[in-house]
Amino acid sequence: MHPFAFAAPKTIADAATAASATVAHAMTSAPERAGQSDVSVIKAGGIDLLDLIKEGLLAPSKVINLGEVPGLDTVVEEQDGALRIGPMVTLAALAAHPIVRQRYGALADALGASASPQIRNVATLGGNLLQRPRCWYLRSHAFRCLRKGGGHCFAVHGENQYHAIFGNMPCAIVHPSTAATMLVALGATVEITGPAGAARRLLLEDFFVPVEQDMQRENKLEPHEILAAIRLPRLPPSVRMAHIKQGEKDSFDWPLADAAVVLELDAGGICQRAAVVLGAAAPVPHRAKKAEAALVGQRIDQTIAAQAARAALDGATPLSKNAYKLPLFEALVRRTIVQAMS
Ligand SMILES: Cc1cc2nc3c(=O)[nH]c(=O)nc-3n(C[C@H](O)[C@H](O)[C@H](O)COP(=O)(O)OP(=O)(O)OC[C@H]3O[C@@H](n4cnc5c(N)ncnc54)[C@H](O)[C@@H]3O)c2cc1C
Ligand code: SF4
Repeated sequence: MHPFAFAAPKTIADAATAASATVAHAMTSAPERAGQSDVSVIKAGGIDLLDLIKEGLLAPSKVINLGEVPGLDTVVEEQDGALRIGPMVTLAALAAHPIVRQRYGALADALGASASPQIRNVATLGGNLLQRPRCWYLRSHAFRCLRKGGGHCFAVHGENQYHAIFGNMPCAIVHPSTAATMLVALGATVEITGPAGAARRLLLEDFFVPVEQDMQRENKLEPHEILAAIRLPRLPPSVRMAHIKQGEKDSFDWPLADAAVVLELDAGGICQRAAVVLGAAAPVPHRAKKAEAALVGQRIDQTIAAQAARAALDGATPLSKNAYKLPLFEALVRRTIVQAMS
């Protein structure tokens, strides 16, 4: 494995100062420079980062461990009832947190359906949202594709069975984070801190970068920035929610498809607000706006759920080997709406 120096800063400002590149930036630099440039990258749990280093896809000169920065692994209920989650909270700890289980039960389901128990004990929420995509061409030395700064997408006309059915030109990755599907549906925001301690906040939905904006990174994190918190808004008690992940097998693996649904009902049971988000469908968590429109103003039953599920596929452009995802998503969205209402 490529050797690297190791640093363990004690403040978030020092970590930001030290982090000279995001992993996406470092992986896109010309191959002849990889390993020669003075690149320092952030490590959280290390599950994805160390994989990339072991595979020789990333060769940083220094790894900056966030594990010793105090306060990044806490979950705090704020005065307005929002939940502020530190980026170093593990998937297992967050899934077991009493407020998450009580108020955001579908998030606990999404976290519990991610990876394996061993990985969830180490993997952090921040690292989960920032992990790089699973496209096998991206993760192989043999292919210098568009996302790595090359000139060609090998998946669009190649092996694309696990790839995107929306927004998939000219790069067809799917966003790899299962938690992100649910967090976008819940209206989560992120807080990003730079070396001077100044924080910027944005909706998680806007943090992710679609391919038409920039094909070489999945989010808006810049070098010298740290994802400092993920914030969940307090939701009215009438909110219903569900998340369902469909994998190729029941044991640990990324989803073939997953769906998150959040519904706000009025006192008469009529849907006032709906969020329907598809995971493993597009390069970013995909808001199914037509499905949301089909739910708002309705008393949701099996028929309305089926209509919304069909509408969720509006605009899909499947590739040569992934059209199977169309009926899969239709069934999954219908089941997720029905589960949210039950
Ligand atoms: C077998 C297997 C199955 C899996 N299945 C799933 C699944 O079903 N669903 C799913 O969502 N994931 C799945 N994963 C992925 C796994 O959940 C992620 O690799 C893990 O969550 C990454 O978290 P980490 O803390 O280890 O991040 P790291 O590997 O340490 O970091 C990941 C990236 O984030 C950056 N980073 C981390 N924290 C910060 C921060 N606070 N600020 C700035 N940059 C930061 C790092 O520089 C790096 O680029 C699976 C992994 C494996 C091995
Ligand atoms: S889908 Fe994206 S990451 Fe995969 S080969 Fe094409 S350009 Fe590269």
